[in-house]
Amino acid sequence: MISEKMKALVAGSSVIRAMFEEGKKMAEIYGADKVYDFSLGNPNVAAPKEVNEAMKQILDTTDPIVVHGYMSNSGFEEVREAIAKSLNQRFDTAFTQENIVMTVGAAGGLNVILKSILNPGDEVLTFAPFFGEYRNYVSNYDGTLIVVSPNLETFQPNLSELEDKITEKTKALIINSPNNPTGVVYSEETIQKLAAILEKKQQEYGTEIYLISDEPYRELVYDGAEVPYLTKYYRNTVVGYSYSKSLSLPGERIGYLVIPNEAADFEALCGAANVATRILGFVNAPSLQQLAVAKCLDCQTDVSYYNRNRETLYEGLKQYGYECVKPEGAFYLFVKSPTEDEKVFVEACKKRQILVVPGSSFACPGYVRIAYCVAYETILGALPGFEEVAKELF
Ligand code: PLP
Repeated sequence: MISEKMKALVAGSSVIRAMFEEGKKMAEIYGADKVYDFSLGNPNVAAPKEVNEAMKQILDTTDPIVVHGYMSNSGFEEVREAIAKSLNQRFDTAFTQENIVMTVGAAGGLNVILKSILNPGDEVLTFAPFFGEYRNYVSNYDGTLIVVSPNLETFQPNLSELEDKITEKTKALIINSPNNPTGVVYSEETIQKLAAILEKKQQEYGTEIYLISDEPYRELVYDGAEVPYLTKYYRNTVVGYSYSKSLSLPGERIGYLVIPNEAADFEALCGAANVATRILGFVNAPSLQQLAVAKCLDCQTDVSYYNRNRETLYEGLKQYGYECVKPEGAFYLFVKSPTEDEKVFVEACKKRQILVVPGSSFACPGYVRIAYCVAYETILGALPGFEEVAKELF
């Protein structure tokens, strides 16, 4: 018999994953090229060839006891040092390996940091729309997720509501820029204002509020958009990074946390993250992947591929009358549903073998998310279906 808590979680289990499974079934019926699956953020760009080459080279030249063995729960020291140096070069920071904890992707990193900081009943804030798993991750450690309502005009963070919602129980704020599901990027000015609010509230309540910056899409930006490095703006920042999207390695499960020296309780926090990595059952991030990404710190995915998809899809949808903020980053479009209940829109798309995710999965009903990290042909193939749906529903 499964636990009561799990029963509820299974019942409310990810709509996105369910769609992904449905897409696979549809492909068997209609043929894969007649199914337009925009449900999952699974990159269709292959990992840079340097990644495979690095893995082969490591396997051929490094002692297998090292490659396949346990290491510090926080990761190989030399890998962490290489990542710290690379960050310092890119962002003018001063990290060392002490500031880096290797994680099992962004999901692993978020769980490690939340386990490290949360007491039951602690509040964690986030801005809607947000990656739906945050709710589960916070509830894993008996925290309460407090949602700041969306700014539907711009999808930039609603800072006045943030200020109102911070209490003495607020332990953290999770932000995600470039954003899933909207693709918006938070400007430097926004980050400065946000940091000022957190500072003010920390003083008012005599508390420490961690800013958890969930950054799997940092490098996926268009039209020269800049993503500020948040440790430079707010002392209590913890960065969660992942190679899932930036190097197209989502199945390999590799990322890291950055915990800066200035963060409150720095040493205890690093120690807690190290132990949390172990006792959550990760033990450590995958050894071969750690060694491989350390050799590929200057590699980049093909952003132009996503950019072509973005332009074609955005322009096409706009032409049919859909409304959407043009994304500056990540690989998602968050489109206003032509019907108030977006599930009607989702079903109309499904009839044309187009799979999109309802905005309610991101705490923002009335919208749908289209993940455009797909083949260009998928976009071209789906556009006539989107046009038909527009004619039917507008
Ligand atoms: N955070 C956000 C905003 C995401 O979109 C995702 C995955 O789509 C994750 C975290 C989890 O990423 P990972 O595969 O690195 O665990």
